[in-house]
Amino acid sequence: MDKLNKPAILVVDMLNDFVYGALTCERGKAIVPATAKLLEAAREKGVPVIFCNDAHIKDIDRELALWGDHAIAGTPGAEVIAELKPTERDYVVPKRRYSGFFQTDLDILLRELGIKTVVMTGLHTHMCVRHTSADAYSLGYDVVVAKEATDSFTEEDYISGLAYLKTCYGADAYTNEEIIAML
Ligand code: ZN
Repeated sequence: MDKLNKPAILVVDMLNDFVYGALTCERGKAIVPATAKLLEAAREKGVPVIFCNDAHIKDIDRELALWGDHAIAGTPGAEVIAELKPTERDYVVPKRRYSGFFQTDLDILLRELGIKTVVMTGLHTHMCVRHTSADAYSLGYDVVVAKEATDSFTEEDYISGLAYLKTCYGADAYTNEEIIAML
């Protein structure tokens, strides 16, 4: 299998509120071990790990009207879960919308790191992972999905999310073992 072209791992919203808190997700808990393993392998190979984290402003951000308060900046709910705690060499990009790119530093960070391919992980496959993938594709990055390290509230949303990413952005989904072999 060919190596990925200058990859980085994007970890979307693996925060206390998304996994254990306000928007708790049982299927999100299930992907934690696979995600931890992938991040460890990436760090060993010198592949950048970038966390794209909701960091909402209470009473301001419009998403909160739809979903209720979650991942309010500065609260424990907005912190990456302890199992995936960023290391000093990882990058953390706060966001206030679904996409990790929307009015954030993510694109300039990826460009300065020389990244060409984003490996998508995190929550939710059909929502923030999808919106981030959409912008990655539009900005010229190749998109692949680590299918054991992303999920949604339901199996249906996960499956339809993967299908949408493949159809619209050509994003192939791979197992952890396959991804690690391609890093
Ligand atoms: Zn949010």
